[in-house]
Amino acid sequence: MTDHDATRRRFLIQATVAASALPLLAKMAMQPAHAALPMLPLDNAQAKALNYAEDAATVKNPMFKAGSSCANCQFFTADTGACAIFPTFGVNPKGWCSGWAAKPA
Ligand code: SF4
Repeated sequence: MTDHDATRRRFLIQATVAASALPLLAKMAMQPAHAALPMLPLDNAQAKALNYAEDAATVKNPMFKAGSSCANCQFFTADTGACAIFPTFGVNPKGWCSGWAAKPA
């Protein structure tokens, strides 16, 4: 085998490996940033205790203030969908719970 053959073989192997990784890299790039956090289950004990609802429009809780939702709660991080009250879960931006507090102006 000549040096040219070895170089060509190495190039073909590297090109094959790179090409096979492209679909995975493309899929990873299309994932939303908060995809790593599982969504808060409604049957979670803390979620139930705080009356979490995935849609604030359905809330009948007397503590609910019109217009409030996770999206405008100080505990919500829009980039990740995370809530500081439920640190291992993501919450729906349209959701609400009785821990809601207005974002500082
Ligand atoms: S604390 Fe705020 S962001 Fe977290 S679930 Fe309750 S309303 Fe949503």
